[in-house]
Amino acid sequence: MATLKTTTYTNGTGEKHGTPAVLSSNSPATGRHLGDVPITPAEQAPAVIERARRAQNGWFKAGLTHRLEMLRRVQGNIHRDMDIIISLIVAEQGKPPAEALSEFLASIDVVVTFIGLAKKTLAPRYVFEKLLPYRQLWVERRPFGVVLTISPWNFPVLLPLAPITAGLISGNTIVWKPSEYTPLTSQALAKCFWEAGIPHDVLQMVQGRGDLGAALVKAHPNKISFTGSVPTGRKIAIAAAEQLIPVQLELGAKDAAIILEDADLDYTVQGVIWAAMHNAGQACAAVERVYVHRSRMAEFLKKASDLIAQTIKVGPGEAPGTTMGAISNDMQMRVIESHVEEAVQGGAMVICGGKRIEGGAGRYFAPTILTDVTPDMKVVREETFGPIIVAIPFETDDEAIRLANDSPYGLSGSIWTRNKARGLTLASRLEVGHADVNDHILSATVPKLPWGFTKDTGYGAARGAEGLLGMTRPMSFSIPRFGNVNIPQLFWYPYTPLKYGFLRRLIRVLYAPSLRGALRSLFQR
Ligand code: NAD
Repeated sequence: MATLKTTTYTNGTGEKHGTPAVLSSNSPATGRHLGDVPITPAEQAPAVIERARRAQNGWFKAGLTHRLEMLRRVQGNIHRDMDIIISLIVAEQGKPPAEALSEFLASIDVVVTFIGLAKKTLAPRYVFEKLLPYRQLWVERRPFGVVLTISPWNFPVLLPLAPITAGLISGNTIVWKPSEYTPLTSQALAKCFWEAGIPHDVLQMVQGRGDLGAALVKAHPNKISFTGSVPTGRKIAIAAAEQLIPVQLELGAKDAAIILEDADLDYTVQGVIWAAMHNAGQACAAVERVYVHRSRMAEFLKKASDLIAQTIKVGPGEAPGTTMGAISNDMQMRVIESHVEEAVQGGAMVICGGKRIEGGAGRYFAPTILTDVTPDMKVVREETFGPIIVAIPFETDDEAIRLANDSPYGLSGSIWTRNKARGLTLASRLEVGHADVNDHILSATVPKLPWGFTKDTGYGAARGAEGLLGMTRPMSFSIPRFGNVNIPQLFWYPYTPLKYGFLRRLIRVLYAPSLRGALRSLFQR
């Protein structure tokens, strides 16, 4: 890994902001001060959006080939800066390098995948209309204009990269407000774009807290891509609705894994515990609810707690042997503690973990399994976003699906079984954006698949061809097909009985449900 220096960075807009307040970045693992970045004052939001608006036409007119060339250079810079980016993720997030490396892999793959998908996905689509054979018709994908991207802290590179890359390739300019908890990682990522030659006005990164995000939303971007919590997403959706701005929302979740009675438990426990505990559970698609067939519950709890004891070592990401890092911030720690406390006070049994790990300046929570929870407990209903699972028994497949779907969220879900066909049947009944059999969150690592959601987890889709299309609006064209030969439309003025009769006959023939019906219509009055 590259060595980190304490740094003060300049603001990505390229502007001087007098003597602005700064965001301090501190390691959640050690409390060490890592660096400061200047905050863009919220009053500057309209100017930031305006600057992006002025740059947009030039960026779009430069053409797809030019934009893809620029993004290939960005890919080169991200590749070049791999160790720096990984070090910053580890430092600001307190996670082990292995987890930062997998985030890096998924991230660079997003860029490469969008570059590969762009020409085909954004190509014009030609349409033939039988009533208008003399006109050429087609659909183009046009950028929205200025896309505002607001991102969270838990995957500070992967999550913003998808909308930024898709947005830029499609010809939008981007205003990016990263999380206030990961300013240095965000700065390093933005540098990869600017050093590739992408102008500062085409990708502006502005650092600040929620007030800056809210001010940018109000400054009328043309589209908003937001990843974060449900309460913030709701506020943004309301503000966007008032301005009729389209929004893509990737919000919180409470993923369920269903373990059937025939599951291979050694394999299943490995997969489910990783899906629950990686990133210290601070992943939107982390397994938080595990529904286990009653006949396998005791075995599951034994194997899961043994695996945690043997393989999860909690500590600073940089420390050798660490497999689970820190909790990002105090607010997140309070949510985790309050969910677990409420459950325990309500009678839940702690199989392992159950509390904060005291000592040192870092924030850590022990990997936790709870049983005997009730459906009304926060740890069952709300997003906990920590290394906690609740294990809940079920008797029948229908009951398992009902319990898994009894959630306001809908991100991803999984079925664990030796019977693939049964697994797929049940997976297709989950109310989620992605379902796996014998795996979980696989779509997070396959950027060719859309990252989609339902219910309170949001709408729109990041990644995949859908991610590119979501950064564009359709614009259709019609021109004379043969030279400049112009044929007046039948439905234009004047309205004559002759034209009416002809059009009526035409409709009867062309829209008859069968050939026989069409022929009959030819001779009908
Ligand atoms: P958050 O909602 O607190 O903040 C997200 C971003 O919004 C930050 O940049 C923040 O500064 C900004 N913000 C805060 N208030 C704002 C406002 N009023 N207007 C505009 N912007 C505002 O979320 P977080 O704690 O940073 O991230 C964790 C959440 O993100 C979890 O709920 C997690 O599930 C969710 N998440 C979802 C996905 C997904 O794909 N569905 C992925 C990752 C994280």
